[in-house]
Amino acid sequence: MNSQNKDVKTTNFIRKIINKDLSSGRHTSIKTRFPPEPNGYLHIGHAKSICLNFGTAKDYHGLCNLRFDDTNPAKENIEYVNSIKKDIEWLGFDWSGEVKYSSSYFHIFYKCAEELISKGFAYVCFLSSDETREYRGTLNNPGLNSPYRDTSIEHNQNLFKKMKAGELKEGECVLRAKIDMSSSFMCMRDPILYRIRFETHHQTNDDWCIYPMYDFAHCLGDAIEGVTHSLCTLEFQDNRRIYDWLLEHLDEFNKSNRPYQFEFSRLNLEYTTTSKRKLKLLVDNNHVTSWNDPRMPTISGLRRRGYTPASIIDFSERIGVSKVNSFTDVSILESSIRNDLNITAPRSMAVINPIKLVIENYPEGEIESLKAPVHPQKEEMGTREIFFSREIYIDKEDFAEEAPNNKYKRLAINKEVRLRNSYVIKATRFDSDDTGNVKAIYCTYDPDTLGKNPSDGRKVKGVIHYVESSTAISAEFRIYDRLFLESNPAKFDDLSSSINPNSLEIKNGFIEPNLLNAKAEKAYQFEREGYFCRDSETDGLVFNKTVGLRDTWNQ
Ligand code: ATP
Ligand code: MG
Repeated sequence: MNSQNKDVKTTNFIRKIINKDLSSGRHTSIKTRFPPEPNGYLHIGHAKSICLNFGTAKDYHGLCNLRFDDTNPAKENIEYVNSIKKDIEWLGFDWSGEVKYSSSYFHIFYKCAEELISKGFAYVCFLSSDETREYRGTLNNPGLNSPYRDTSIEHNQNLFKKMKAGELKEGECVLRAKIDMSSSFMCMRDPILYRIRFETHHQTNDDWCIYPMYDFAHCLGDAIEGVTHSLCTLEFQDNRRIYDWLLEHLDEFNKSNRPYQFEFSRLNLEYTTTSKRKLKLLVDNNHVTSWNDPRMPTISGLRRRGYTPASIIDFSERIGVSKVNSFTDVSILESSIRNDLNITAPRSMAVINPIKLVIENYPEGEIESLKAPVHPQKEEMGTREIFFSREIYIDKEDFAEEAPNNKYKRLAINKEVRLRNSYVIKATRFDSDDTGNVKAIYCTYDPDTLGKNPSDGRKVKGVIHYVESSTAISAEFRIYDRLFLESNPAKFDDLSSSINPNSLEIKNGFIEPNLLNAKAEKAYQFEREGYFCRDSETDGLVFNKTVGLRDTWNQ
């Protein structure tokens, strides 16, 4: 066995293939690539591919390139290029050397096309797109040869030059490979290699007016960069034939250590979509505010929501790599972030539905400073200062006039609860308005219960959180629900019909004063409420709910 793979676990079929290729000597080292098209922001499905490509290369002490597959200038732009780089860096992966662009190989692709034409393997075709479709045939019927298929090599060489020189109109003709119009693989029925597009490109400006198709550019890009294992999703399974055909028909690339393509199943996440085209529609039609709206399954949306790189990498590892298409339960993603934040997130208290509570036996005008642990299980994280006085806020949900049953552990008239990190209080009475809404609660506190149980042996079971009123800071809380009502929204042609109208709920409440300088995107556990982080796109104190403390989806 090759020394490079001895410490690597064979945990998926890709690793098995790599181990075999290293053992047989087909390759002596490993190179992968992550090839996004810059036509949108990266999403959680891309994260799976990123972790697979960068992670596999890393485990085999190999390299992974970041290559922008930028062959369609009409849909691409530099904003997407920059966001993709930022997201990969944030996940913590390093690409090998400079960022690569398919567009920087346009001159090589052009030469390859010329080689195919000169060998009689490519021709310029003037069929309209409707005619091309008709000639292509169907899965059950073979296609027909294009009338331009058997024109002379010289004629095609001239026409291709004219295409490049901008002497032919957009849509007038295309360059096609001459393969087999009766192949059982539709992609082998003389696939289009180049088309004319008078578009300004974000990297090459107006240098080119012919642009290569994905199938042509991808295998060549891989071969030029010395990629060994080109990992892509299962939709490209058939395209593997054209991938191999092209490399085998070009002298420079027809070598045993050339790249090979391997397919794995894409990530489909329930109640969301991992299609860039559909995510763009959500943004364009204002169903969300932006690509990084915290409800979006984009990497930037998850980051703004409080997800950490470690949680996304953990999720990718847990879902694994296979060839079986399936839907993944969102709760798996949520448990990855919950497990991470349970260990790392500092604790704090926030009251999301505030109601005032007056402690009538506490002196007016006095305020007390108390210490609370930053993390109850991690003493090394230190303590924070919280306050206590005659007036505090608690959550409306934590009070009922009468305890509904014996198990009730919150506050009720004549019942005691402990205020988290503070004293035991007992409710005595409350004010309500004409419609019966509770407006203020009145209590007494037991001064001998700070950090200890009542000395007379009374048992106080419940603990509720609170914020002292004079030092409390107003904050907005944004609570998110799934974006779609359907577990597979792709089933519907019109995405908007399955949008959840209540995917965002805004609440106004209070936070502890030490959250005044909370860093954006760094999650806290608001005790008893869930994990929240400060929003990075709004001034002021706005907190996004990352995830609840428990899985409430499957209840
Ligand atoms: P589009 O929908 O615009 O074609 P795409 O989803 O294929 O886009 P690319 O930018 O072409 O996006 O993807 C870059 C890489 O990420 C590809 O190798 C692709 O196979 C992989 N990828 C995309 N979506 C997923 C997904 N849901 N799960 C796993 N890998 C994915
Ligand atoms: Mg794609």
